[in-house]
Amino acid sequence: MQTNVTCWLDETVKKYPEKIGFIDENRSITFSEIKNYALKTATALIVKNLFKKPIAIYMDKSVDELITFFGVAYSGNFYSPIDVDMPNSRIQKILEIFEPEVIITKKELWKKTKFDVEDTTVLFLEDIAKIEQDEKSVYLQRDKCCDTDLLYVLFTSGSTGIPKGVTICHQSVIDYIDWVEETFSINSDTIFGNQAPFYFDNSVLDIYTTVKTGALLYLIPQELFSWPIKLLEYLEQNKINTIFWVPSAMILVSKLKALTKVNLNGKLKKILFCGEVMPNKHLNIWRKYIPDATYANLYGPTEITDVCTYYIVDRTFGDAESLPIGKALMNTDILILNEENQLVGNNEIGELCVRGTSLSKGYYKNVEKTRQVFIQNPLNPYYIELIYRTGDLVKVNEFGEILYMGRKDFQIKHMGHRIELGEIETAISSIENISMNCCLYDEKKCKIIVFIEGEMSLNELNKKLENLIPEYMLPNKIIIVEKMPLNQNGKIDRTALKKLL
Ligand code: AMP
Repeated sequence: MQTNVTCWLDETVKKYPEKIGFIDENRSITFSEIKNYALKTATALIVKNLFKKPIAIYMDKSVDELITFFGVAYSGNFYSPIDVDMPNSRIQKILEIFEPEVIITKKELWKKTKFDVEDTTVLFLEDIAKIEQDEKSVYLQRDKCCDTDLLYVLFTSGSTGIPKGVTICHQSVIDYIDWVEETFSINSDTIFGNQAPFYFDNSVLDIYTTVKTGALLYLIPQELFSWPIKLLEYLEQNKINTIFWVPSAMILVSKLKALTKVNLNGKLKKILFCGEVMPNKHLNIWRKYIPDATYANLYGPTEITDVCTYYIVDRTFGDAESLPIGKALMNTDILILNEENQLVGNNEIGELCVRGTSLSKGYYKNVEKTRQVFIQNPLNPYYIELIYRTGDLVKVNEFGEILYMGRKDFQIKHMGHRIELGEIETAISSIENISMNCCLYDEKKCKIIVFIEGEMSLNELNKKLENLIPEYMLPNKIIIVEKMPLNQNGKIDRTALKKLL
């Protein structure tokens, strides 16, 4: 019986000890080496008497970071990967919420930081590498774990400016990866090309399926995503046969006609994507140049462990048609509810809600936000059963497939990143000389537009915002208004502003 994701690593090491598991720009590592390093990390945490405790991982995206995830998991603690490129003030906010017992980092990286973490132990990867691993203690502690214990906490944008920590337990990941392996026939011949940052849950598929099946995972250098031809050449050279990317990354490739230059047909066999709408206009270009691949549109928020519905593309679509998000995964149930919390009727739009093992244990130390979206299943009056309200509006088409129709709130997806427009607005409110502001998203042009009452250029504004929010949240256009239009309730009239776009 499996209660912890590291059981996969144990099994894979028995089958393929010398097979390479992870490769980044600097190194490659076999499964038995992954296990050895992970056991050292686990030992370092167990010596400190830590069990079921928060561990922050402050590292560049690397093989080292992956090993550390497994080390934390072996020890029965849970991790949160902290993006090193995020502004310090936002990292500080996350650390204040997460309150890690330990931060695991690298010496070079730590030298450059200025976090206020007085009472937190900092462990360096370089020192952990010198530790003698205590396998017996690690396994004794791992045996105490339940599959409902947390594996990780991922922080996503929060509408009030405070990031929300989504908690996910081992059981949810075990269930999800079982499904991935079976549905897409992943095995030791699979070679993944990872695009997703580790603070984004798409990466969970790449990391854990690799370790479960003995596949090989390449961490594609980030800069290649600005050079589509080089990116495709990288896939070809490394014989990558499976990718799971955000549509934005795929769109860049089709837009810049890279597929006409590098022929990947017959080589790239499985093309999965998730995280935002995939326009058929672009998917059709991929399908034209790589006709033999299997394509799948996966859908889901972090709160339900990455994916809750999927559609394996099985027919042709016109450029303007929308691609279905399909049907529920095994062991997952989708309820589409109307405003009265009843199941919608034929052709009616409703909110997609999820039921099953994949559900998060709620937002980390945030009962209030948790209660707003993890609610009692309104269709079950008999016992406690939670569902997650995604905020996504959907309907079912004539084939019984779910279609994504949009959001019911101000959460957006911009270049694959999940952003609450409220978080940008809160950051802008803290800047002097701007009395009022409002952010809108221009979906056609993929631009974040900020309306302000005040005097400021986009450059000036973004210089100030750089220290407050991640680069991907910075507005792309500023519109100065003399007076912010207000609706009858005295709130900013977003509909009136939309007309100014
Ligand atoms: P995240 O938590 O970052 O994975 O973002 C989840 C949100 O991204 C969902 O609630 C949707 O709004 C959007 N999303 C994810 N996958 C898809 C998809 N395949 N099609 C359309 N929107 C998607």
